[in-house]
Amino acid sequence: MRALLLEQQDDQILAQVKDIGSGRLPDGDVTVDVNWSSLNYKDALAITGKGKIIRSFPMIPGIDFAGRVYSSRDPRFKAGQSVVLTGWGVGENHWGGLAEQARVSGDWLIPLPTKLDERKAMILGTAGFTAMLCVMALEEGGVKPADGDILVTGASGGVGSTAIALLATLGYSVTAISGRDNNTGYLKSLGAKEVLPRSDYVETPRPLEKQLWAGAIDTVGDKLLARILAQMNYNGTVAACGLAGGYQLPTTVMPFILRNVRLQGIDSVHTPFPRRQAVWERLASILPESFYQQATQEILLEEVPAAAAALMNNQITGRTLVKIR
Ligand code: NDP
Repeated sequence: MRALLLEQQDDQILAQVKDIGSGRLPDGDVTVDVNWSSLNYKDALAITGKGKIIRSFPMIPGIDFAGRVYSSRDPRFKAGQSVVLTGWGVGENHWGGLAEQARVSGDWLIPLPTKLDERKAMILGTAGFTAMLCVMALEEGGVKPADGDILVTGASGGVGSTAIALLATLGYSVTAISGRDNNTGYLKSLGAKEVLPRSDYVETPRPLEKQLWAGAIDTVGDKLLARILAQMNYNGTVAACGLAGGYQLPTTVMPFILRNVRLQGIDSVHTPFPRRQAVWERLASILPESFYQQATQEILLEEVPAAAAALMNNQITGRTLVKIR
């Protein structure tokens, strides 16, 4: 089988497409013929070596995939069935989706919802799954479309793009923050009402600022997240899922104790099975058909290392779908 293999040489990561015997696949109950995978921020960190994502080499990266079951010892899955996987450390500490086959635990797989095909499932991938988790966190925080504007940061990226499309379709008024003014047209076509420049948000904020947002989805972290917290409406909810701008959070307790602001963390890796199924069903039913064309570029396995470098350089817009077969 063909696979993108990561090897470590003198502290450098080598990423090359190689032919590997499928006998080398790790233990697992279900072997899947992978048809589609995708490129996420974490994949790019792993493939470029810019983040310490992978600790044991050689490793096949790819934190998500969609494909057909080739063989299964798990009674819940039958050969030929379409499945999707995100998270569980696949592509980090267990060989992942950037290969023609993957062998995993049946506990990690989701039967593909009937409204999705495998390609669409990977246009969404981990980023889309996480965007839906963030939107659900706002809903669970009681944020309703009538309450006011919702801010989405890292807007041109995979999570940001999907979050904008989901929120707009659900009737929320969305403001996007982007570092790329040439993406304004793209972000508005996804449903953003307004696009603010990221450069407006680089200063350390005051503990409390003018109340602007009923909800926020943040993929960036650091000072930008701190500023958003200071600008939340009374009772607002922020779903924080990312660190594209840094992992620190230089904030104060003021938004929490004086404005009743809720900061909800989002983890997509260990989401329990019933919530995973609910997330996929909702993604399949909310997103308009147009989203899948607007937000996608498709590449081949051989093109993944260059795309990973481009993603780290903030040169990719939307989602990058990887055609495996
Ligand atoms: P992308 O690279 O697709 O998007 C990130 C976006 O962030 C970019 O498009 C850019 O948008 C913005 N950005 C990039 N660099 C910076 C910077 N230095 N400062 C501020 N903004 C920046 O990544 P994903 O959408 O796949 O992931 C986004 C984040 O969410 C990542 O940190 C990722 O690790 C995290 N994540 C977390 C998950 C979880 O389970 N918690 C799951 C999935 C992702 P623009 O140019 O428009 O400003």
